[in-house]
Amino acid sequence: MSRERGEQVVGHWIGGVGVEPSGGVAPIFNPALGVRLRAVGLATLEEVNRAVHAAAAALDSWAQLPAQRRARVMFRFKQLLEDNRAVLAAIISEEHGKTLADAEGEVSRGIEVVEFACAAPQLLKGELSNNASTGIDTYSLHQPLGIVAGITPFNFPAMVPLWMFPLALVCGNTFVLKPSERDPSVSIRLAELIQEAGLPQGVLNVVQGDKTAVEALLHHPAVSGISFVGSTPVARHIQTQAIAQGKRVQALGGAKNHMVILPDAELDSAVEALVGAAYGAAGERCMAISVAVAVGEQTAERLIERLRTRLSHLKIGAADTPGVEMGPLVTEAHRARVREYIDAGEREGAQLLLDGRTVGSGSGFFLGPTLFDRVQPHMRIYREEIFGPVLSVVRVPDYAAALQLVNTHQYANGAAVFTRSGELARRFVQDAAAGMVGVNVAIPVPVAFHSFGGWRNSMFGDYSVYGMEGVRFYTRLKTVTERWPDETRTEADFSLPTSM
Ligand code: NAD
Repeated sequence: MSRERGEQVVGHWIGGVGVEPSGGVAPIFNPALGVRLRAVGLATLEEVNRAVHAAAAALDSWAQLPAQRRARVMFRFKQLLEDNRAVLAAIISEEHGKTLADAEGEVSRGIEVVEFACAAPQLLKGELSNNASTGIDTYSLHQPLGIVAGITPFNFPAMVPLWMFPLALVCGNTFVLKPSERDPSVSIRLAELIQEAGLPQGVLNVVQGDKTAVEALLHHPAVSGISFVGSTPVARHIQTQAIAQGKRVQALGGAKNHMVILPDAELDSAVEALVGAAYGAAGERCMAISVAVAVGEQTAERLIERLRTRLSHLKIGAADTPGVEMGPLVTEAHRARVREYIDAGEREGAQLLLDGRTVGSGSGFFLGPTLFDRVQPHMRIYREEIFGPVLSVVRVPDYAAALQLVNTHQYANGAAVFTRSGELARRFVQDAAAGMVGVNVAIPVPVAFHSFGGWRNSMFGDYSVYGMEGVRFYTRLKTVTERWPDETRTEADFSLPTSM
């Protein structure tokens, strides 16, 4: 797509300076107004190579810096993020559409990972076995991978990059970030802030772009690791390609998270949790609840009644509207896609209790909260990720049937159970085949010192993100066996050495 005359174009950040893009552009919208705000550059192969080159040039001196000194950059970065929380939230909301409070929450969750990264000297400590064999010490080192690329989705334009680069950097890597082309501006502000915090030039680079930039990073021989978060088809492609190139990869994909409501659940608080989890950020969250599994007909009736009441006064509007609970979808194309799912749900015979298609006058990309009842597992609205404000209620007779749904869906990011029974909750925790489980918590996103990741089609690769899994992903283990000369002469030994 070509540039409009005089239009601002979001550019790259390479070697510690802003770089004007030389190739094509893509439009960025204000979803609440439905207007084109500015454009974003789409990196050329040459621009991606420049970014990788900058990361390579910065690598040795950064990797050799004591971990404590790398961590000090993170301490200052954390403070700058806190000082700029409101500004960052405004940038996010303008291009994404989520409410300001939600955008501030996103920044806060990102800051928590930076806080975790501040512990680098402790996190990178290896293990030592003194006198592992006579006169021999064995110890382990966690060394950086080298250059790591991060490719991130539109729905958390600050938090997901912050899941990745702070931890990758404190581990001694250099980084090339490729943000979503739909809301790229905040990534540049993050790069400026971390440089202000003392990060040397070239350690973090940002290339804007689309598939072309991603493919260039994926196939670049100097890139050793890829962190990807986005939709499942792309995640799967990234993983297979990265493995074929001998790169380390973690690729997080889509989701369809179930919330199981047992008959003894405290229903008022369950409904409040469900409404926030299903419709917050207009359902554009990989941990959104999109399926409510009601166990027993009575539970379903009571749930539906409360949901209808609560949703009738859900406040929709632009990010800065006082009291707003839900904003627009990110683009017109995405809204059209979600509307098609609502059409499909109706066609397939689900009971449409609340139709979001009736909301959305004006030019913004708004869609009202949509509620389907009596959804069946064979329906598309159940099987596929919609990524919009659409909640499906599935009625099941008992716990076993609820568990069967959770454990056989193609996606397995999060699953929650709402109950007063400790016994059933504990059973669910043991039985649920999903990466993250909530007990009376609808969105069980782990804190920064645990790790985030799903199972089955929600994640490809062996390491989850952040927490100790993140440290393992961004480092390579080296184990050293060490002996120093002493008076005991050793002779050549042709059998395998042992400690016996
Ligand atoms: P997306 O897959 O369209 O894009 C993600 C990134 O991949 C972007 O940077 C994009 O430029 C790039 N990309 C897109 N198509 C590509 C292609 N064909 N080849 C190479 N690169 C490509 O995802 P999105 O729409 O930005 O984000 C929404 C999706 O992300 C949802 O499926 C959501 O569930 C998922 N998500 C998952 C998590 C998680 O932790 N599991 C978190 C957030 C979002």
